[in-house]
Amino acid sequence: MNPKRFPLKRSVPVNSPPTIAAVDSFRDLADGNSAYVANFPNASLSAIPRQHLAVVTCMDCRIDPLAIFGLQVGDIHVMRNAGARITPDMLRSLIKSVNQLEVDRIAILHHTDCGAAKVDLPGLRAKVLAATGSDPADVEFHLIGDHAAALDADIEAVRTCPYLPVGTAVAGFIYDVTTGVVTPHDSTFVG
Ligand SMILES: [Zn+2]
Repeated sequence: MNPKRFPLKRSVPVNSPPTIAAVDSFRDLADGNSAYVANFPNASLSAIPRQHLAVVTCMDCRIDPLAIFGLQVGDIHVMRNAGARITPDMLRSLIKSVNQLEVDRIAILHHTDCGAAKVDLPGLRAKVLAATGSDPADVEFHLIGDHAAALDADIEAVRTCPYLPVGTAVAGFIYDVTTGVVTPHDSTFVG
């Protein structure tokens, strides 16, 4: 992490430090995991996704990529960020997915009512500044203006990536968070 871009020491202390141990913020996770391991069903899964598919989607909590496509754990790679944008780090993961882990098709799943399309950059910067004392002027948030154009750009970023084999299939979809319907947007091949 670049300390210049993400200063560990805030320039203007706004909030008081927490008075509880940080681990206390995560107690519910330990409880949830105890229940999970009691009947753990995935001990013999391969790291190679059975469907040879990577799904890039948004971090939005309404999106369940496996359920949306009727898939199971072990079937696909799921890669998420704010907005399902094809950023340099998303490409890093896709390059590994395709070249190392036998994925040969990439689905980019944008969605309706996406926060990346609703937030305005000056407002977001002002919120960060107010909460932390630091202005994220040099953070690229990859916000969405025109949604179709953004999805086109993301498909194109994958299609033209020089580190993905020619012929890798790539498609864009829009997921409707109110109906569950996935609508195809466009599809092509890397090349
Ligand atoms: Zn979103």
